Amino acid sequence: MEIHNFSAGPCILPAEVMQKAAAAVLDLDGIGLSLIEISHRSKEFVAVMDKARELALELLGLEGKGYQALYLQGGASLQFPMLAYNLLENKAGYLNTGTWSSNALKEASILGNAIELASSEEKGFNYIPKDFDIPNDLDYLHLTSNNTIFGTQIKSFPTTKVPVVCDMSSDIFSRQLDFSKFDLIYAGAQKNMGPAGTTLIIVKEDLLGKVTRKIPSILDYQVHIAKESMFNTPAVFPVYVCMLTLQWLKDMGGIPAIEEINEKKAKLIYSEIDLNPLFQGYANKEDRSTMNATFTLTDDTLKDTFDAMWKKAGINGLNGHRSVGGYRASMYNALSLESVGVLVDVMSDLERKA
Ligand SMILES: *Cc1c(COP(=O)(O)O)cnc(C)c1O
Repeated sequence: MEIHNFSAGPCILPAEVMQKAAAAVLDLDGIGLSLIEISHRSKEFVAVMDKARELALELLGLEGKGYQALYLQGGASLQFPMLAYNLLENKAGYLNTGTWSSNALKEASILGNAIELASSEEKGFNYIPKDFDIPNDLDYLHLTSNNTIFGTQIKSFPTTKVPVVCDMSSDIFSRQLDFSKFDLIYAGAQKNMGPAGTTLIIVKEDLLGKVTRKIPSILDYQVHIAKESMFNTPAVFPVYVCMLTLQWLKDMGGIPAIEEINEKKAKLIYSEIDLNPLFQGYANKEDRSTMNATFTLTDDTLKDTFDAMWKKAGINGLNGHRSVGGYRASMYNALSLESVGVLVDVMSDLERKA
């Protein structure tokens, strides 16, 4: 039976990427060696890293604009303190839109003066605060573009003169944005790019080198840039899979092409949530994420029936995050419109039966 993988992360990857990745584990491009048993300094792997870095900048439209792409370890969570190490001198401002931004703020606060500019915590993070003040003397403004757990997404980014840092872990490469408005973007690979184990960092070089503190080498973006993302052994397999996924995206027409499909998927599920009286959306309508749709049943006694129905339809990974409950349909780039159609059919079947 076909499985429809709505998992929030690690999550679905394109089938052809999985096939190519599996083949490279056995024999990389016919060299008679596995991708994971060759030196990361070999010409074969250096070419992989170079390509993965180049594709990221190309797809975001940032080639030749003073940006560098890095693939580092430690997950998006390591970036919370690392970005503060590199950028926080006097004061940083954080928009608190969920668990991940709270964590980012907490870690930066250990190093310096990181303040919360606005928060939606009082409403269970079900919306994106707008019209908040951004002081002009911030070292940077920190945003989380998509709140994976609560299902909200920033649709319109604040205009400001201060550098903008953005955690795009769960919606990078999913929609067109003017990425040159951001000074640092980071994203754990395991939501829209590849397996867990590497994190993409896109950083504008002129943002760096301004803090007075000493930075441990492994936490210093400038060291990683100088070493072309090979300061220490990179996560070779995750980087390889990211390269394949980005090539897959480029071949299908890049971000504009995937955005069109992502919008269709989001429209399909949210119209079912709104029309079907048995379901209720969690996030404020105008802030709804195209990547993670969060919803609950209006009648909890239907839970066992609904759960049995979607499992029988081959749907996987639909349970909501433990802090929110209910359901979460994660619809990353590799999830097809057909899979969302299968879920929507189950939801309308439930209405017919109830
Ligand atoms: C998943 C996620 C993280 C955490 O990523 P790790 O790689 O597990 O550290 C951070 N931010 C956002 C927005 C996420 O979705």
